[in-house]
Amino acid sequence: MARTLDRVEMDKIVSLCKRRGFIFQSSEIYGGLASTYDYGPLGIELKRNIRDAWWRTFIQDRDDMVGIETAILMHPQVWVASGHAGTFTDPLVECKACHHRFRADHIDSKACPDCGGALTPPRNFNLMLKTFLGPVEDTASQAYLRPETAQGIFVNFQNVLTATRKRLPFGIGQIGKSFRNEITTGNFTFRTREFEQMEIEFFVKPGTDEEWHQHWTDLFMQWFLDLGVRPDRLRLRPHASEELSHYSKATSDIEYSFAWGWGELMGIANRTDFDLKAHTEHSGVRLDYFDDDIEDPAQKHYVPYVVEPALGVDRALLVFLFDAYDEEALESGDTRVVLHFHPSIAPIKVAVLPLSRNERLVPKAREVYDLVRSRFVTQYDDAQSIGRRYRRQDEIGTPLAVTVDFQTLDEDNAVTIRDRDTMQQVRVPISELLDTLAEWLNPRSS
Ligand code: ATP
Repeated sequence: MARTLDRVEMDKIVSLCKRRGFIFQSSEIYGGLASTYDYGPLGIELKRNIRDAWWRTFIQDRDDMVGIETAILMHPQVWVASGHAGTFTDPLVECKACHHRFRADHIDSKACPDCGGALTPPRNFNLMLKTFLGPVEDTASQAYLRPETAQGIFVNFQNVLTATRKRLPFGIGQIGKSFRNEITTGNFTFRTREFEQMEIEFFVKPGTDEEWHQHWTDLFMQWFLDLGVRPDRLRLRPHASEELSHYSKATSDIEYSFAWGWGELMGIANRTDFDLKAHTEHSGVRLDYFDDDIEDPAQKHYVPYVVEPALGVDRALLVFLFDAYDEEALESGDTRVVLHFHPSIAPIKVAVLPLSRNERLVPKAREVYDLVRSRFVTQYDDAQSIGRRYRRQDEIGTPLAVTVDFQTLDEDNAVTIRDRDTMQQVRVPISELLDTLAEWLNPRSS
């Protein structure tokens, strides 16, 4: 739907998130921990809905995908084989005057962006967070918090293949936490040291990888559009060859146009056979595929190529927030803040509101609330005027509000449904309420 506001500034999003309970600074009462955030009551509903939408579309609704959940802690050799122990680095420069540190590839000038001081030459800084397992902090017990969820999938390739009897092409997806000791953070939850990823490793026959790379790129672009993200805010950016990660033959990023410029929303990489080969070499266990369809016995065994669509949950959530935010001037002269969330990700689907806190209205509204919440995530609110309550629901992106009034009690046993985006209202008998709501919110569930 057409929006009034072209772009929203970060401080408005941060303030809305705190005020309404989407996102809080972590450990705030102790002054906070830099670039670490907690999700509040509405934030966690939004996050769960994003995860669920991803899981349903890319795992449950597809015959060629399965899910997995692997541990954050892995054998240290995993990171040697994957190349992360050696090459998962960013170029770090430090200001000789104020000692602030920056990623060399994130700044244009040769002088410190903060104080103008001279910078040290870049040195490589490993992004993996270390920890120690067991009571003695010696090098033998050193482990890493995973910097990506992908490796848990690669090391389980043979397990999943044997357990599911899947044939190529097929993929394994997982959602879980990853950790990176990022040099520069900032822009709220855009880049944090602890974050959540939704990753797919899609295994294909070598030679078909470029086609599949394109296919997954198109699928994800469409997924964001289907969830309501504005097309002119999204773009695809193929990586130049010097930008590619050590494992990648080609990578395309889907980027979003934030208030501060274009930023990566997700990456779709063609990782070739790099990871499966590396783990075969380091573990001594063959991670390959036996292809029944190939006649020639010499060609039957091969290592699949893999296409990896990797998306951050927190990054996606930030994009949905930015994209949904709008401020609209009302005829009354007021401004309403509204989040135009797609119904499938909106934290609260329906609000049930009695016209007032009248003692006759409240029991009936409670009855309607019990009915609606049996099917949808619903909020009941009877505090303050009905106008203010509509505004409160608009601000958290609730798609529909159901109002119980005296006509409900005295005349028609019907209620009013108000649409968040158009503010149009229709009257519906309570006997048809659930079906009508289902049709508006999600045609699939009715
Ligand atoms: P960059 O080059 O910006 O550091 P990257 O290209 O290394 O990022 P990937 O390894 O491709 O990022 O990670 C896949 C996705 O995981 C990213 O597109 C993003 O959505 C998410 N992600 C990666 N790092 C972070 C982080 N520090 N905070 C939040 N999300 C992240």
